[in-house]
Amino acid sequence: MHLVDVLARDSFTASFEFFPPKSASGWDSLFGTIADCGPLRPSFVSVTYGAGGSTRQNTHELVIRIRRETGLEAMPHLTCVNHTATEIDDILSEYARAGVSNILALRGDAPKEGGGARSAFAHAIDLVGAVRQFAKLGIHSDPRGFGVAVAGYPEGHPETPNTLTQMDHLKAKCDAGADLIISQLFFDNHAFLDWRQRCELAGIRTPILAGILPITSIAGMTRMAELAAGAIFPAALLRAIRRAGDDPEAVARVGIHWATEQCRELIDQGVRGIHFYTLNKSDATRKIYENLGVSSTDALRERTP
Ligand code: FAD
Repeated sequence: MHLVDVLARDSFTASFEFFPPKSASGWDSLFGTIADCGPLRPSFVSVTYGAGGSTRQNTHELVIRIRRETGLEAMPHLTCVNHTATEIDDILSEYARAGVSNILALRGDAPKEGGGARSAFAHAIDLVGAVRQFAKLGIHSDPRGFGVAVAGYPEGHPETPNTLTQMDHLKAKCDAGADLIISQLFFDNHAFLDWRQRCELAGIRTPILAGILPITSIAGMTRMAELAAGAIFPAALLRAIRRAGDDPEAVARVGIHWATEQCRELIDQGVRGIHFYTLNKSDATRKIYENLGVSSTDALRERTP
């Protein structure tokens, strides 16, 4: 279902992000996770795209399998770094022929070991334009072509220290045809809510989903600090995690409690939707729903003013 239709249907959306596993056992356990998440009735799920190359085909395979085996609406992420324009068109053609409705259009990051020289597109906005142009080829069964989501950064993107300029870049992506913004993960709601207001002041009318990552281990938190450069870990969260000390279960309880409180406040503040970075596990997300007192996204929607 096209993102515009998903947003028209669901006054509040919940979406779950997965990544393609590297091993056969990882695929089995991921499908267990997806089965466990199914009863929560997400509006859609998304599948990340590896910058390295080898995992790229896996994104396609995972999206197709999720659609076929679970009936969930699955949106692939697509990055343009190190892709030629022809490659991008080929990937879009494959997705169109497979009946995929939406694309999360990203720039990606050049691999640390170098590369990126083949990139036809310098920024995500160019990929948004390419996806919009693709619609004109008539390959997609929907005359509107793909629904397009883009990334946004409540606490800033490290390459553009000037936050006003950064907002201009986000606005340009929306004007180029984005249907949805999905935010980078954040742990400080104030940062997100203030950014949401700044988006509004900049004239951005594109719906924004809040990216939530429940911390479930110290190792996971350390890795996220690396991946989501710029994300602030509030002192109160760090203190609570430190109090949990060496007890992994206590750390997970603290992380899930923090994420629950973030979700509760965001829902109260009328957020359009929440995008859960699941890290291919269902426990934390299911626990958050349980803590919020609901068994599915439908219940969350119905009981939210
Ligand atoms: P852009 O929108 O192109 O922005 C990148 C930088 O360039 C920003 O600093 C921006 O301000 C600046 N910029 C934009 N336009 C211009 C311009 N015209 N001139 C000068 N500067 C400009 N990465 C992956 O590899 N795979 C994934 O699956 C993936 N999924 C993600 C999902 C979400 C929800 C988010 C938030 C991020 C994801 N990322 C993923 C990470 C993302 O690829 C990186 O953060 C990347 O550095 C920026 O991508 P972007 O699409 O935001 O790029």
